[in-house]
Amino acid sequence: MMKNVSILGSTGSIGRNTLQVIEHLSDKFNIVGLAAGKNTKLLKKQVEKFKPKVVSLERTEDAQEIMQAYSHLGLRVVSGREGAEEIAQIEDNDIVVCAITGINGLLPTLAAVKAGKRVALANKESMVVAGSLLKKEANRTGAEIIPVDSEHSGVFQCLVKENRENIKRVILTASGGPFFRTPKEDMQKITLEEALNHPRWKMGAKVTIDSATLMNKGLELIEAKWLFDLHPQQLEILIHPQSIVHSLVEMKDGSVLAQMSTTDMRIPIQYALTYPQREKAPVASLDLSQIQSLDFFEVDTNKFPLIKIARLALKEGGSFPVALNAANEEVVDAFLKKKLRFSEVYDVIREAVEAHDTREVNSIEEIFQIDREIKMKTRKIIEQRC
Ligand code: MG
Repeated sequence: MMKNVSILGSTGSIGRNTLQVIEHLSDKFNIVGLAAGKNTKLLKKQVEKFKPKVVSLERTEDAQEIMQAYSHLGLRVVSGREGAEEIAQIEDNDIVVCAITGINGLLPTLAAVKAGKRVALANKESMVVAGSLLKKEANRTGAEIIPVDSEHSGVFQCLVKENRENIKRVILTASGGPFFRTPKEDMQKITLEEALNHPRWKMGAKVTIDSATLMNKGLELIEAKWLFDLHPQQLEILIHPQSIVHSLVEMKDGSVLAQMSTTDMRIPIQYALTYPQREKAPVASLDLSQIQSLDFFEVDTNKFPLIKIARLALKEGGSFPVALNAANEEVVDAFLKKKLRFSEVYDVIREAVEAHDTREVNSIEEIFQIDREIKMKTRKIIEQRC
């Protein structure tokens, strides 16, 4: 049966890859809604090719432009956060792909969970800041949250036929990013261009920088805790430069399950759409004799100290992950605008969160309140350094 899909973040890296998957599986999936940011040019192409019923853009002026261009198609055009939320809640949706980056994706992701359909989750920050609320809401509405993040898709695939109570530990792999082999003393000299040049994955700017600092793996630890109901001590990280093994799950009897594939985001995206079925995919076969060796290393937390703060956030829970995510978003933004050096990233984040009093968070409003406070504080710290 044909399934209706909407994508929140359709012009981003995950959104574009999702549309490739859907183009290939066009006899099984149909696009009904697309929510984009500011890239009207690409959204127009997507409208022409996939003929959605509703699209949304961040800005009203961009929405008007699209509306005028496609009035003859009977296309409904909405805008802003409410627009993205409307796409998340289209009655006809069977699956909503949540691929807006950062806490900006939280309310649209929550709207999708509230609608009680399948949520293919790529927006890891929403799980980091509101995992407890999203899980509670999913239990209430029956929404099915399927991870798109490659490591979490790997864990999810390993656990399909397993009883989760039998998990001993979960190991998320990390490519190590572009600076895995950079000597610690040379970390001072890293440029924006070098940080944006990821050796394995081609992704959006925010997650690419997070991969260079290893904060991405820190966020993924917290994401995994919520997705798989794990205790912090059950979660580990291993550096695996080849990015072939996406994660490992050790069961209580000593068996270790691993999920492997070529490094291609279309694989986890497709799985989130087709689960529990599998479909053919136009991806290269994994040739291990070509790759020859799979290496694994411990994380050097002296070189990548954000992992230590992320571990603390994982353990403390409550508002701490919200604060850490806020400081990180602000710092990544400043680094991308060249207002901050790579070597300052850790110090600024640490300063922004060290005085934070961890408290319980029980509402979305509290989460946004903490997010605003910490972002303001982080901006001040950055300004003082300029
Ligand atoms: Mg990942």
